[in-house]
Amino acid sequence: MDALDHFSIPVTGLHNGLHEFDFQVDTGFFQHFEGSPIQVGDANVHLLFDKRPDLYSMTFQITGTVEVACDRCLEIFALPIEDTQNLLVKFDETAWEEADVIYVTKGIQKLNVSKYIYEFINLAVPMVTTHDDAGERCNPEMLKFLTKEEDVAEAEEPLNPFKDALRDLNFEN
Ligand SMILES: [Zn+2]
Repeated sequence: MDALDHFSIPVTGLHNGLHEFDFQVDTGFFQHFEGSPIQVGDANVHLLFDKRPDLYSMTFQITGTVEVACDRCLEIFALPIEDTQNLLVKFDETAWEEADVIYVTKGIQKLNVSKYIYEFINLAVPMVTTHDDAGERCNPEMLKFLTKEEDVAEAEEPLNPFKDALRDLNFEN
């Protein structure tokens, strides 16, 4: 995680109150996370860090783009992402985490937020993404090809009386 050291917040050095940080995420960032579904991306992360005596409150504002495959035409495109996520930091004897709260030992010098930024960027990507999300149009060549493939698959399907019945009832097409 040394390569991501610049994502560390020097928490002990901060006075109580609100602080702001900016982090730049690029394609190299994602390579530090094994099996990352995102391989290419750029994002700016603005962090509002509120240091209070008993807890830290963090708000991550993420804007950027990540490359994903379109679920309709399968072509890779740059998906704009924009998201705001909150995370509380509390103190405990040992470090552990639960949803929206991380526990750290009192007296930690630095808090590395790269892992949380990574998770939040992934959360900002919807389950289904199409060119529509980027205000773009699908690749017509790919669509033509995919439609053809579907036609072939349908023609090769064995006769299905249930499906035929549905077709007769106009539930299909
Ligand atoms: Zn598409």
